[in-house]
Amino acid sequence: MKEMTPPVTRFAPSPTGYMHIGNLRTALYSYLIARHGGGRFILRIEDTDRERLVPGATDIIIKTLADTGLHYDEGPDVGGEHGPYVQSERLGIYKEYAEELVRRGAAYYCFCTKERLEQLHEEDATGGYDRHCRDLSPEEVERNLAAGMPYVIRQRMPLTGTTGYHDEVFGDISVENAELQDQILMKADGYPTYNFCHVVDDHLMGVTHVVRGSEYLISTPKYVLLYDAFGWERPHYVHLPLLMGRAEDGTVSKLSKRHGAVSFQDLLADGYLPEAIINYIALLGWCPKETESEFFSLRELEELFTVEAVNKSPAVFDYEKLLWFNGEYIRKLPFPVFCEKVAPYLPALPENMNREKLLLLLSTRLSKLSEAEEKIGFFLSLPAYGPELFPNKKNKVTPENAPALLALAEKTVRGMDDFTNDALFSALSAAAEAAGVKAGAVFWCARIALSGQTVTPGGATEIMEVLGKDESLARLGKALTLLGA
Ligand code: GLU
Repeated sequence: MKEMTPPVTRFAPSPTGYMHIGNLRTALYSYLIARHGGGRFILRIEDTDRERLVPGATDIIIKTLADTGLHYDEGPDVGGEHGPYVQSERLGIYKEYAEELVRRGAAYYCFCTKERLEQLHEEDATGGYDRHCRDLSPEEVERNLAAGMPYVIRQRMPLTGTTGYHDEVFGDISVENAELQDQILMKADGYPTYNFCHVVDDHLMGVTHVVRGSEYLISTPKYVLLYDAFGWERPHYVHLPLLMGRAEDGTVSKLSKRHGAVSFQDLLADGYLPEAIINYIALLGWCPKETESEFFSLRELEELFTVEAVNKSPAVFDYEKLLWFNGEYIRKLPFPVFCEKVAPYLPALPENMNREKLLLLLSTRLSKLSEAEEKIGFFLSLPAYGPELFPNKKNKVTPENAPALLALAEKTVRGMDDFTNDALFSALSAAAEAAGVKAGAVFWCARIALSGQTVTPGGATEIMEVLGKDESLARLGKALTLLGA
């Protein structure tokens, strides 16, 4: 029966102030499992670690999910029948369930002082808690509570046997119970630990598939013990493969800042498109069967994504590949959308410059939007260059013939009113033919003169169309002076 009900998944980030690419992948896979199965996707904010709170962090999470199109059915800003969706607003719920667990004998009050615990730690840093309060008599517990002694609530772990569960990606996982610490469920300040409250929430919110990073793979036996103690049905577990980065020396380690930008915000600021990022990270740990294509819109991913095709081997984040994807996505943007997206990356353009033609030139030539400024720098100010740029074997340009080729270009252009690419191209081609020289040689010389560089977005006539007549003639004239013509 369980298999038949539509999946309910959640994304449960801690508000850290930025969206790590690994977290975004977790959100994406969680979203896709829900959508593929026609189920529900929930956003829950896990903010019970009060020391690590960052103001505004929840907004970043919400904005990232909006930017990437990962819409959730329930969440802090959209509401829903299982709210509130921020853990710090659910403290009463956790207290109630922790006390229920004590009544069931699966948890206990612990009154150990900070000093005692520190002492324990000093004696044996790896030993953990010595279960000192595990068997206090009910009377003693009552007395301590009545006296207002501070306490935590700990999970009473079984001392023998093993606990196991099935993970949909990693298979069967089990641990020796003797190795499990009597971990804290409720802290002295009344806040629950992640270890406890996420289980309560997942149950109360009807989550059927817990999707998260593989760092939780090994602690999940502790969580299934909580489900069992409450008599709740365990969810399916889907732990995702590690995300790795490759350093310059070829070594591979957990993806971090030393490998490049690791937050969604940083990638956006660097001119990556959300849809390219989503497409690329979908492939970090998931490999679609029955198709060779690597390009998937979010809708297509919803259609295709299955947990069976998630693999457990670590995925290496390849910045080159992301850049390539991004370029492909930029080229697919409708032109008006491209103009809008690239605008923040452009410097102010001179008034007489043909902005639209410039953007057309750029629109097919960027791998990321932040390359725009560098690519068009020469339009705004002509870089310093020397006569050695003109000679070119392929186009048969030599130091000797360059001045005449350039003079031909200048003279032709000077007589023109129609400064469109087509008109300029025809006129220069005709002039070259009439003079008995290669058109390519004329275009080459003109392009060097117009840009001061040998590689440009667009050819000579396209550049002139952008620069306009006055600026084009000024640059051609300057080059003639440089060549001593
Ligand atoms: N708040 C946890 C984190 O950000 C969530 C882990 C989970 O999904 O259960 O890592």
